[in-house]
Amino acid sequence: MTERSHVKLLIVGSGPAGYTAAVYAARAMLEPMLIQGMQPGGQLTITTEVENWPGETEIQGPELMVKMEAHAKAMGAEIVTDLVTALDLGKRPFTATCDSGRVVTADAVILATGAQARWLGLPSEEQFKGFGVSACATCDGFFYRNREVVVIGGGNTAVEEALFLTRFASKVTLVHRRDSLRAEKILQNRLFAHPKVEVIWNSELAEVTGATTPMGVTGALLRDLRDGSVREIKADGVFVAIGHAPASELVAGQLELHNGGYVKVEPGSTRTSIPGVFAAGDLTDHIYRQAITSAGMGCMAALDAEHFLAAEGEIEIAPEPLVAAIY
Ligand code: FAD
Ligand code: NAP
Repeated sequence: MTERSHVKLLIVGSGPAGYTAAVYAARAMLEPMLIQGMQPGGQLTITTEVENWPGETEIQGPELMVKMEAHAKAMGAEIVTDLVTALDLGKRPFTATCDSGRVVTADAVILATGAQARWLGLPSEEQFKGFGVSACATCDGFFYRNREVVVIGGGNTAVEEALFLTRFASKVTLVHRRDSLRAEKILQNRLFAHPKVEVIWNSELAEVTGATTPMGVTGALLRDLRDGSVREIKADGVFVAIGHAPASELVAGQLELHNGGYVKVEPGSTRTSIPGVFAAGDLTDHIYRQAITSAGMGCMAALDAEHFLAAEGEIEIAPEPLVAAIY
């Protein structure tokens, strides 16, 4: 295929939101181009079992995302392996500049850039990143066979990471800043029942300790938040799992953001503060942040974009009666 420099619809991001938008947009004959970014398949590619995708009692996250990509391709979406480094939403057509040098203009854009792991911001965390400090157990867990690891956080990700690490590590210590977890009960029950797991409550990571020759983690300094006391526990690896922040840097200063950087959309739609720019998935959602809700918003964004392009006279096909009735 000749490289296109202009498209009717550009989708930025290849998680559940992006691929679902691509499936719907391709079926609406919008000939969408989807740019995958640094993490083709999105966050589910760094997990193992997904047990809450309807129709699949259990499926590996990476496998689910490969299926979504294949589905979008089969429907006719153009999938591009590249990273959008700049997005000019100042005038239509909008302009995306990519890492490879590719420049694409688009009549409408769907932003589905999701979220990225948050870090604690400790100097020692930065120092040992890649040398014992990680935010991805599925990526790095294998290196901790018969070793002791610490996981920081109390949400679904932290508990899933801790359970995953029990496959390799001799001991997994989950450190949480409160006295109860926010993870789903089914995950909590699995965690508490696991013989390799210890939970340390009401504590935070004060610093990671380690050696520089060779670089490596040897322990974790934990601060008890009730009395401020600090103690060191042995650790060969520290996994930070304290949630994700929306990947909205591309559009900061151009689109209205809220709740700490999430792209603001009109309630009940995916319309952003700029007509023709739509947003879906974790990028817009500080509450649900699930694969299925992201996919649902991806569908909505494609339908919203289709309606927008029809109203602008960019496409000839009429919008679906159901969607038309909303406007
Ligand atoms: P993401 O999946 O975050 O994808 C964002 C996409 O945007 C990526 O492809 C990235 O490469 C791309 N991108 C970012 N910036 C750019 C750019 N500048 N240019 C081009 N592309 C860009 N949810 C569940 O429902 N069930 C689970 O079991 C589950 N397990 C999880 C386990 C872990 C470890 C994690 C971290 C999350 C889990 N979630 C789970 C949450 C789920 O993964 C997210 O809600 C979902 O992936 C969000 O989808 P998304 O499409 O909005 O964005
Ligand atoms: P999350 O739900 O936001 O949880 C983040 C955890 O980290 C919380 O327990 C929080 O503590 C803790 N934390 C935050 N900042 C901290 C800090 N500075 N120091 C110490 N602890 C800190 O994030 P998540 O677990 O990554 O999940 C993100 C979304 O993906 C959620 O919607 C989740 O449901 C979804 N997800 C789903 C699944 C699944 O369905 N199986 C799996 C993974 C993720 P507090 O509790 O005190 O706030």
